[in-house]
Amino acid sequence: MSKKEDSRGKKGSHQTELYAEVPSTCLPIVYSPEYNITFMGLEKLHPFDAGKWGKVIHFLKEEQFITDEVIVLAREASEADLLVVHTARYLNRLKNAILEGSREWSLVVATITEIPPLLFLPNFLVQRKVLKPLRTQTGGTIMAGKLAMDRGWAINVGGGFHHCSSDKGGGFCAYADITLAIKFLFERVEGVARATIIDLDAHQGNGHERDFLEDRRVYIMDVYNRHIYPGDGYAKRAIKRKVELDWGTEDMEYLQKVELHSEGALNEVRPDIIIYNAGTDILDGDPLGGLAISPQGIIKRDEIIFRAARRRGIPILMVTSGGYQKKTARIIADSILNLHRQGLIGEEAVEGAGPSHVPLMMSKSVSSGAMFSAI
Ligand SMILES: [Zn+2]
Repeated sequence: MSKKEDSRGKKGSHQTELYAEVPSTCLPIVYSPEYNITFMGLEKLHPFDAGKWGKVIHFLKEEQFITDEVIVLAREASEADLLVVHTARYLNRLKNAILEGSREWSLVVATITEIPPLLFLPNFLVQRKVLKPLRTQTGGTIMAGKLAMDRGWAINVGGGFHHCSSDKGGGFCAYADITLAIKFLFERVEGVARATIIDLDAHQGNGHERDFLEDRRVYIMDVYNRHIYPGDGYAKRAIKRKVELDWGTEDMEYLQKVELHSEGALNEVRPDIIIYNAGTDILDGDPLGGLAISPQGIIKRDEIIFRAARRRGIPILMVTSGGYQKKTARIIADSILNLHRQGLIGEEAVEGAGPSHVPLMMSKSVSSGAMFSAI
C-alpha cells in the first residue's frame, strides 16, 4: 500500500497525518509528552494522577525496554480527523461549552471525580490544558490502529475514552478514540472488515457501544462493575458479551471470567483487529472502580488478552483508559514489561506464543495454574 493510498483512504476520505509511515526501527508504542495534563501544580491537590502516561514511559525507559528513538510520537487528531466520527455540532458544543463555562461541562467535571478541579481555571486554559492532551491521545489511538495491523500489536500509552460517542462526551472522555480508530481502519486499511472490542475498564463502556449499536461489523465484550457509572442501559444493547461484576470482585473470579469470555468472544467471531481497553481502575482501592484486583491480577489479565490475540494471529491494539491512582503508572509499565518477557510483544515477538508458557508473575490468589488454561 503506498503512502498516498494510506493517507487518502480507499473511499476518497480526507487527508490525514495519522497514517504516515513509521520507521521500521520503531516499536509500535505510541506516546507524546503532550498527553500529560498539568495545571501549574493544581493537579497535585487531587488524587487523580494527571501525569500517569509520562510516568509509564519513564519506567519503561528506566528498565531499558525503550528509548525516545524507538517510540512513535503521537500527533494531535485534527478537526477533519475527528469529523470522521464526531458531528460538527458536538465539536462546536465542546468548544463553546468550555469557552462559556457552560453547566454541561462543569457538571461532567463535578460528577466524575476522576478529574482534577478544572472548575477553578479560566476556560481558555481548560481548552489548552485538557482538550489538547485528549486530542493528542486520540490521535495516538488512531495511529496505533494502523500500527497494530502492520506489526501485529500496538500500544497507545493513553486513550481508551470509552464513554464518548459521536455526539456526546462524559466521564473524562471528550473524544471517541476507539470508534475513530476502528472507522479509520474500516475506511483505509484493506482487509479490515470486523473488529472486536474487549473492554476491561472497571466502568461499563457506553461511547463506542452507542456508535456501533447497529453495526454488525463490531463485536463488543465488556467486563465491568455493574453498580457504578454509567449504567447506560441503552448502550448495553450493543454489548454482545456482557460480564457484570459485583463490588469487591477479586483476582480469582475476575481472571477466570476474563479468560473464559475473551476465549469465548474470539471463538464466536474472528475479528481482523482486537481493540483492548485495558483500564486499570479495577485495582483494589480505586475510589471509583469498586473492584479489588491486585497489581499482579492486572498484569495477568493483560497477558491473558495478549496471549489470546497473538495465539490466533489477530492484531491487537491496547489503550490504557481509566485508573489514576499514584501507583497506576508503575503497574501499567510492569504489565508491558511482562508482555515483553512473555514474548507477546517486542521486535522478536512471534505469533503463536503458546498458552503453555508459565507466567512469571502470578498473584497468590490465582496460583492455581489449571484455572487459566484456555477454556
Ligand atoms: Zn473507568
